[in-house]
Amino acid sequence: METEATAKSSNPREHARAAASLEFRDVSKRYPGNDEPALRDLSFEVAAGEICVLVGPSGCGKTTAMRMVNRMIDITEGDILLDGESVRSRPPAELRRHIGYVIQQIGLFPHVSVGDNIATVPRLLGWDRRRVEARVDELLELISLPSETRERYPAEISGGQRQRVGVARALAADPPLMLMDEPFGAIDPITRERLQNEFLRLQEDIRKTIVFVTHDIDEAIKMGDRIAIMREGGVLVQYDTPDRILADPKDEFVAQFVGLDRGLKRLALSKLGDLSLQAAECLPDGTPVRGHADHHRVVFVDDRRHPVGRLGEDGEPEPVGPVGKPDTSLRDALSLIMSDANRPLVVVDADGAVAGLARVDVIASALAVGNGGHAAREDAAR
Ligand code: ADP
Ligand code: MG
Repeated sequence: METEATAKSSNPREHARAAASLEFRDVSKRYPGNDEPALRDLSFEVAAGEICVLVGPSGCGKTTAMRMVNRMIDITEGDILLDGESVRSRPPAELRRHIGYVIQQIGLFPHVSVGDNIATVPRLLGWDRRRVEARVDELLELISLPSETRERYPAEISGGQRQRVGVARALAADPPLMLMDEPFGAIDPITRERLQNEFLRLQEDIRKTIVFVTHDIDEAIKMGDRIAIMREGGVLVQYDTPDRILADPKDEFVAQFVGLDRGLKRLALSKLGDLSLQAAECLPDGTPVRGHADHHRVVFVDDRRHPVGRLGEDGEPEPVGPVGKPDTSLRDALSLIMSDANRPLVVVDADGAVAGLARVDVIASALAVGNGGHAAREDAAR
């Protein structure tokens, strides 16, 4: 015990216990006194280490589905399996100590310090004092909270910090599964985006299996490895990767839900680094050029091949304008091109040297891969 406690390092990877796989198998839920089921025959599988987002309009059963996993709500029919084992085979209290649970805002105990909030589950599990202290230190570091916040009360830190503490508390005993119910729902849009990004970075390290509930399709697309789109009446309509859902919504409901701008949303998922670029003709800065057949392809470069100018239609040098990078999203690339009189975008590599050009038509063709899916079949049937 002692050796385990003292051997803890600050590297979360060394902690990571195997994440659990999760399966919903024909799960239905009927609340007493209600004829209509809240969930109907819900079936889907989440691979270990993946984020599954349950998304849909209010009242479609997202919270119900999530709370059945840790048995806060009883399953009426069907079963939920964690690593192949029914959640019903374990006492609820024991089960919950191995499932992290994050909800919006109110989750923290108000009269308990940040450090003691985070220590809740490890103490319940009977960890010794030194091990608990070490884990709290490590988690504060992991969520980038200054160590002095440890002694503060939840009301004495910001909303964003409270939400981070909620995540740290859920992670404290290193659970193989995390349930997150609209965790960033009550937070202003800027902090929310920061927390989303932080959480995705954290997940790269901890690789937990996560069930994440939101009513916001953009958040679902951003956070999910897979998305379960649910509709009123507790029906699962489509379970797929964000790209597949945007490329090929299964029916009118999903198409409406993801929005008319689904093409643009899909562009946001791909990066310039994924695109086959058109070759640029790189010339040393100051090279005179006359009567070039394709002036857009010419990029003037310095001795490190960094772009310093373009060739105008009139044969005169022009400013280089916006430049894309391998991690620039196709959506941002499109926007840069539009703001630059539709000139093909100069793309540089990680060192800033010219890698090639991205043309509007090549970006548009990146969207064409989804053809032949549900929408095309519906069109064909008309
Ligand atoms: P969501 O999280 O997607 O907004 P919920 O899972 O909270 O949806 O609710 C799904 C449906 O079940 C709703 O119609 C809701 O009114 C009903 N419901 C939720 N909790 C209860 C309950 N304790 N008793 C009766 N009906 C409930
Ligand atoms: Mg809910």
